[in-house]
Amino acid sequence: MAESETQASSRISAAEQIKSLALNLRASSADLSSNGELRRLLLLEAESAAEQSYSPYSKFPVGAALLARDGTVFTGCNVENASFGGTICAERTAFVKAVSEGYREFEMIAVFCKKAKDAWPCGFCRQFMSEFGSSLKVIAYKSEAGVQVRELSELLPFMFGPGAMGQS
Ligand SMILES: [Zn+2]
Repeated sequence: MAESETQASSRISAAEQIKSLALNLRASSADLSSNGELRRLLLLEAESAAEQSYSPYSKFPVGAALLARDGTVFTGCNVENASFGGTICAERTAFVKAVSEGYREFEMIAVFCKKAKDAWPCGFCRQFMSEFGSSLKVIAYKSEAGVQVRELSELLPFMFGPGAMGQS
């Protein structure tokens, strides 16, 4: 089997592993974000996604792994552009992939920054993600503090959301 095929199949099995674990936790009414194994698997997916990063300008690869409510995982990486404003972050890439596939409900997103010791999603991504719910859990790995989890409402208090536009 070619190396790329091996990598593809290991990614598929990781995604299946995450889905199965997420659905089992949901069935037992457990808090998904407090499960260490699920956080670890999602962070590994985010780390793997960072390998696809297109970041020739910043040389700051980022990966994200977004867990939808049904257990499906969508990964994303940052994609930079020579016109810097055209750049999209890893978190938004993952969300755009999911939303364009018809997904609207999400549990968690893991973010992996290869070079940052202490990084959370940027303000633009926080706003973007808040469109789909303020209870989303954001998982990040901090070199000194280990795996950290924050609810999006903590990262973006007083957000301008769908409610402000009269949407429920
Ligand atoms: Zn961002």
